[in-house]
Amino acid sequence: MMKTKSGDFVLPGDALGVTEEFIPSEWTYEDEGKIRSLVAGKVSVDNKNKKISIIPKTSSPSIIRNGVVVVGQVSDVRGQRALIKLDSIKDNSRGLVTSFSGGIHISQAQKGYVAKLTDAFRIGDLIEAKVTKIMGIDNVDLTTAEDELGVLKAMCTKCRHYMKQTNKNEVECPNCGNKERRNLSSKYEG
Ligand SMILES: [Zn+2]
Repeated sequence: MMKTKSGDFVLPGDALGVTEEFIPSEWTYEDEGKIRSLVAGKVSVDNKNKKISIIPKTSSPSIIRNGVVVVGQVSDVRGQRALIKLDSIKDNSRGLVTSFSGGIHISQAQKGYVAKLTDAFRIGDLIEAKVTKIMGIDNVDLTTAEDELGVLKAMCTKCRHYMKQTNKNEVECPNCGNKERRNLSSKYEG
């Protein structure tokens, strides 16, 4: 039984209760009817208002929530989804208290149609993306379908060097001359 009480120490992903009984509150998220902790910290149960929240161990952890822009690295591109390991929240030097990962569906990869997801991202690319939905620490939905979002640094699939921008959605490797397509951010570095 995953019954927690006020003062219990929990880690990211730990089950705290069920949504039939409680309302998920600060630093928690809902996962198929269960309420789980987003961060390491102490449980706070408000029985009167039926709320469960967490008092984070770190005094001011970075807040990941819908609408924030995050910086991450592409860890895989398979079929309709690019997998992203999140490094930090943009303009926030603290870094994330928890290691989040998420994904970008092909429909959210760029403005307009993209035939193949590998025309938008490749493994190793550094990207900026906006959080659209948090379903768990390993399940954050992201979008890059805005001009200022997308690939910040593209990694050559042949030799792993970072590439130079040559066109709106094209990069070239200064090391091996390989040319590839990407959904480049308007702030592409290089
Ligand atoms: Zn190369």
